[in-house]
Amino acid sequence: MSIRQLSETMINQIAAGEVVERPASVVKELVENAIDAGATRIEIATAGGGKTLIRVSDNGCGIHEGELVLAISRHCTSKLEDNIHDIRELGFRGEALPSIGSVSRLRLLSRTANAETGAEILVSGGQNEGPRPAATNCGTIVEVRDLFYATPARLKFMKTDKAEGAAITDTVRRIAIAFPHIRFTLSGPDRSLVEFAATGTQEQARIARLTQILGKEFAENTIELDAEREGIRLTGFAGIPSYNRSNSLHQFVYINGRPIRDRMMAGAIRGAYEDAIARDRHGIVALFIEVTPSDVDVNVHPAKADVRFRDPGLVRGLIIGSIREALTKAGIRPATTGANAMLDAFQPQTAPFSPFRFSAQAQSAGFPFRTISSPWTPQTAHPAHRPIMPDTDAFAEQTTPPLHGVNLPGADLRPEMAAPVNTPATYPLGAARAQIHQNYIIAQTEDSLIIVDQHAAHERLVYEALKQALYTKPLASQMLLIPEIVELAEDDAGRLLDHAETLQKFGLVIEGFGVGAIAVRETPAMLGQVNAADLIHDLADEVAEHETAGGLKTMLDHVAATMACHGSVRSGRILKAEEMNALLRQMEATPASGTCNHGRPTYIELKLADIERLFGRR
Ligand code: ADP
Ligand code: MG
Repeated sequence: MSIRQLSETMINQIAAGEVVERPASVVKELVENAIDAGATRIEIATAGGGKTLIRVSDNGCGIHEGELVLAISRHCTSKLEDNIHDIRELGFRGEALPSIGSVSRLRLLSRTANAETGAEILVSGGQNEGPRPAATNCGTIVEVRDLFYATPARLKFMKTDKAEGAAITDTVRRIAIAFPHIRFTLSGPDRSLVEFAATGTQEQARIARLTQILGKEFAENTIELDAEREGIRLTGFAGIPSYNRSNSLHQFVYINGRPIRDRMMAGAIRGAYEDAIARDRHGIVALFIEVTPSDVDVNVHPAKADVRFRDPGLVRGLIIGSIREALTKAGIRPATTGANAMLDAFQPQTAPFSPFRFSAQAQSAGFPFRTISSPWTPQTAHPAHRPIMPDTDAFAEQTTPPLHGVNLPGADLRPEMAAPVNTPATYPLGAARAQIHQNYIIAQTEDSLIIVDQHAAHERLVYEALKQALYTKPLASQMLLIPEIVELAEDDAGRLLDHAETLQKFGLVIEGFGVGAIAVRETPAMLGQVNAADLIHDLADEVAEHETAGGLKTMLDHVAATMACHGSVRSGRILKAEEMNALLRQMEATPASGTCNHGRPTYIELKLADIERLFGRR
């Protein structure tokens, strides 16, 4: 075995393995180059999801004919001077063009402002042709054809044209948000035209772009941020807690104009919203962080999407602090959560000297309330032998008159009024005795008191039934008299329609309705009356997030969970005794019904012995 120097082409192909992961990464590199060249107009065209063609044209400074060869040579850059800690441009590695040229057919055509004519150079699988004179306007055009033709192994990993095209759209959007003074267009035979205009002030253009991408609710539901700490400036927007999404794809973070996807940032955003929104929901934010180049290291990965801060704690604190402050200023107080609320509520109010004061200590000392996640061994009937859902009619929205007596003032004090005589308390979850505050079912077993959160419990049951439906027969659906038209981003619509057949199994029937809209014809009967637009938007988020990342099974689980969340018996639904008991029996028959889809308990149990202890009887 002898050691040899690799050929230039090989070296570039190896670099390409990191820099050029997919067509969207080529678009990112070329657009960054155009921005670095000072362009104010950047036009991007793609074909075949960027696999057949990517063309990026700009009106930037252009490249001298004499420097075209350098531009496509490795480690040649006009950007980095001699200090790796002072990177002010998006590019600095001098390896994008040679890497791309080594795995595709690349054409670089350019003309500087004072040149009389333009020139071009071609690179095909690493072999150069030119430079030679060519007619063109001032600025640069880079054409990349047949990406990865020279590395078939990589080509095999490409997704469908549609998926790769959508990734390009996402890339362009992310960059466009950071550079509102540049006009971007994205077009091609594989897509409809997207234009990000650069009108008005920077601020106006930025809001217009965010609104274009996130919908008009964006401007109405976000609070402006502007904070500074030790030379680090944070501007941007934070969504109010109720304006949230089921994944983090709507969080945009930029460091000095560079779109970043970073765990630390994601964690900080989660931390900022921690007490304000549910654990599985994500705030919508656009954060623009400006820091002195020497305080941040962008030279972490060839794709330049990671950064390291000199003082990460400072940045984290700045993000959390300013989002929280903005929310507080807007009068939004984070919801207080945690078990202490319940403990406090149980403090005897009439006897402050009572020996049974409950405090946080009581909890560690074995507070009598317990939550149970899997109380039943399968000695109750096997789940498969029982109906999955209670009679769906029983849960139909408000068709039944309110349970007599329970919603009368004072009825809460006489729960036994609701007690059906014929349900034995020998079931694990006992017999329903009352519904209080229109959400909690009080049930009695032989030796305990059970409190069920009907919303959480029902959600879990619907979720399990939906998952079951995938493998057995489709769920019943309910036809809408007038199909509801839901507008959403074109790629979101496309992705959902790709899964229309599967969604039909869940009882959700959708069809395309022109560009960027979906007609909802039928909804799962089990969900009752749902807000179709909200459901569709959340489903689109789930599909977007999990389609590529998690595989089909994970995605379907998330789809089911999202549907369940939308279709659950809302708190406030008054249930009849039969309905309550049906729900309890169903919970017993459903695996994992002890926690809702969000991981919260669906019921708590208080043992009679503990109640007696509470009253000093034991
Ligand atoms: P880097 O951007 O890291 O310098 P690239 O390989 O992307 O490396 O580009 C090499 C060089 O080619 C750049 O430094 C720049 O001088 C020149 N260049 C590339 N694209 C353009 C463009 N659109 N306009 C002007 N110059 C460009
Ligand atoms: Mg570059």
